[in-house]
Amino acid sequence: MSVSGPGGFSPTTTNDVFMEDCLFCKIIAGQIPSKKVYEDEHTFAFEDIDPKAPTHVLIVPKKHIRGLKEAREDEAETIGRCHLTAAKIARDRKIEDGYRTVLNVGPRSGQSVFHMHVHLLGGRDLRWPPG
Ligand code: AMP
Ligand code: ZN
Repeated sequence: MSVSGPGGFSPTTTNDVFMEDCLFCKIIAGQIPSKKVYEDEHTFAFEDIDPKAPTHVLIVPKKHIRGLKEAREDEAETIGRCHLTAAKIARDRKIEDGYRTVLNVGPRSGQSVFHMHVHLLGGRDLRWPPG
């Protein structure tokens, strides 16, 4: 499903910061294919290639931020916008009866791609605590 951005926003490949050799920067720029779900000025969302739930979408800031622990004060709004994009997608997919937004931080959490991303997981019962 493709959701158009607010106010007829037209997709762009321009990033504030493009990091060479970053998988998600290349996906945002269209250099590596992805199943795009949503895009606006600040955020980009696409289907996870190895879904762990019926809905498993990754929401990333267009600007390269390595991870939550590296984020700066002036990136707070961008991080918040990623979560609001997740909430919008969850609303559009009618999974608001239960979904989860997850940020893996650091190698012991399972973070494998070092461009910050919010996982949106839903469409099934979710156990707590996560493993
Ligand atoms: P994390 O382990 O939190 O760093 O999450 C990285 C996520 O990126 C994993 O859930 C992977 O399945 C997903 N992933 C890796 N490569 C791709 C890709 N080319 N397209 C979409 N998702 C990907
Ligand atoms: Zn990046």
